[in-house]
Amino acid sequence: MLRRDRYKAFVEYFSTHQPEAETELVYSNTYELLVAVILSAQCTDKRINLVTPNFFQRYPDVISLSHATQEEVFELIRSVSYPNNKSKHLLGMARMLMNDFHGEIPSTVEDLQKLPGVGRKTANVIVSVIYNAPAMAVDTHVFRVANRIGLTQNALTPLAVEKQLVKFLPEELIYIAHHWLILHGRYICVARNPKCEICPLTHFCKYYQQLQTPSGLRRLETEKRKKIRLQQQKKIAAQLKKIEVQE
Ligand code: SF4
Repeated sequence: MLRRDRYKAFVEYFSTHQPEAETELVYSNTYELLVAVILSAQCTDKRINLVTPNFFQRYPDVISLSHATQEEVFELIRSVSYPNNKSKHLLGMARMLMNDFHGEIPSTVEDLQKLPGVGRKTANVIVSVIYNAPAMAVDTHVFRVANRIGLTQNALTPLAVEKQLVKFLPEELIYIAHHWLILHGRYICVARNPKCEICPLTHFCKYYQQLQTPSGLRRLETEKRKKIRLQQQKKIAAQLKKIEVQE
């Protein structure tokens, strides 16, 4: 199957079955989305949605957050991953917005990336969710699912995945395709043991089609063994390091 046919099938399926896909983070304005996305790095949307109501009650806008102390912010977000770094980023973000952007949240990926805690992925989420801009935020789900389906080829970095998806997807659907890939990765094409038996994309998924041939199966088994070997080597190296430190 040609790659353009996979794209066509992908767009056809999701346009029909999930025309309304959106982020699972709860927010009511650009400021709240920015805070929620910064908090969501390496953490689940569910956890963030538990934390943000209190946070937004205490700091409803950029000005109030810019006057907070790091200890106060830390207390409110202590249950999310990396609360120390994230509290620093949130404060730095609010203060930079006040000092350099007149308290307004910028609308370009370039300016957004100047803010502490905002990388390319977060900036792309903001412009695509708020402005429906043709920007593709690549997280672990997008990276994995695009590769498995065969939408990307030899794309080894998030930026390479982003470029290929932006190149081949219809421009007006890029903002929503991001959610299609994330949600599919979160609930069906999960990292370990993808649920191919209930997946509606098998007719055009490259990974699934490889599983149907003996040589493809062998290759996937070899890759799997290689991955396990690497993980074991890493584990042993970490244990040795621990022993060295104790000595
Ligand atoms: S068929 Fe399997 S590998 Fe392919 S997208 Fe579906 S769950 Fe993922």
